[in-house]
Amino acid sequence: MITVKGYGTPAFDKPLAPVAVLRRELRPHDVRIDIQFCGICHSDLHVVRNEWHNTIYPTVPGHEIVGRVLEVGGHVKSFKPGDMVAVGCLVDSCMTCASCKEDLEQFCESGATQTYNSKDRVDGSVTKGGYSESVVVTEHFVLRVPGNLDISRVAPLVCAGITTYSPLRHWKVGPGSKVGVVGLGGLGHMALKLAHAFGADVTMISTSPGKEADARRLGAHHFLLSKDEAAMKASANHFDFILDTVPSGHPLDPLVALLKRDGDLVLVGAIEPMPGFNAAPLVGLRKTIAGSLIGGIKETQEMLDFCGKHNVLPDCEMIAIQDINEAYERMIRNDVKYRFVIDMAPLKANH
Ligand code: NAP
Ligand code: ZN
Repeated sequence: MITVKGYGTPAFDKPLAPVAVLRRELRPHDVRIDIQFCGICHSDLHVVRNEWHNTIYPTVPGHEIVGRVLEVGGHVKSFKPGDMVAVGCLVDSCMTCASCKEDLEQFCESGATQTYNSKDRVDGSVTKGGYSESVVVTEHFVLRVPGNLDISRVAPLVCAGITTYSPLRHWKVGPGSKVGVVGLGGLGHMALKLAHAFGADVTMISTSPGKEADARRLGAHHFLLSKDEAAMKASANHFDFILDTVPSGHPLDPLVALLKRDGDLVLVGAIEPMPGFNAAPLVGLRKTIAGSLIGGIKETQEMLDFCGKHNVLPDCEMIAIQDINEAYERMIRNDVKYRFVIDMAPLKANH
């Protein structure tokens, strides 16, 4: 085992603070990665505060990881020291079930191993995430970073990017689609950029009037203030597809009302019981409410390559890891512009 520096928390009501993180000796298919940047996802906050009631403490979050390969196990063929790579939310899965065989490891029937707060499939230890100096990941789950991308802005692609790319692709958003994005945070701003890049007509649906100018700069053609009842009414039966990134339970009826016949409302934010909804518009106009979870490894690589080709990158606010608790407070206040990314260099500097 190798001990490296990280940031984590011992309990739901404690701030993040320096912790020692154990990283395993390399198995034959393992890749050891020197972490350079790690994005901050709202999921990190959910887990740190035990909002999903499954946190195993102490926990070290972080599943938007970018860095350089340090060393590889004896059987690794696709990576070598020095390669620039990324790791998202997944670090392992059974590789044999129907979902894994269809490149949908996120839906692994025996439960995919998450980058943090999961049990390692070999030794049962609890996985620790990217708020740390380095990480060890089996090669199938390591992604290649296109050489032309600004490395300091790549990390959010492997969670916020793929979580929005995958449903846009699955529900075949393209030129002519009328797309709504609910919630302008980390996921929402990537959804704007990607839906715009796919040629859709894009509307930001936000609770924050002050975000209109940014939404337009990020790719929205229109801005709909969800608190403005008259504006919501005027947009009824308008959208083919709405991607909902709101992190907590909220009424769905006002969003279903915005869908046109056969439209899809896809949830990627809240994973908790929602307030009841009215089935009448689903029946009456064949509308759908669905959900989506990150994306498989093959699709995540496809997304990275797409972003490389079209130079699609998140808007990042770089922080030092010492400022992580303040970043969490700002995330709670809807004050993210539009993804925090931790620069790991200062953590490594004071050895
Ligand atoms: P974020 O940066 O905090 O952004 C969330 C945005 O939602 C806020 O900026 C705000 O935008 C809006 N919002 C917040 N509270 C709201 C409320 N009560 N009612 C209505 N709107 C509200 O969060 P994120 O990192 O994008 O993550 C969003 C959610 O996705 C989290 O729950 C996260 O755990 C989840 N997630 C899911 C997946 C998946 O695979 N399905 C992957 C990653 C993350 P406005 O100011 O514009 O209203
Ligand atoms: Zn995430």
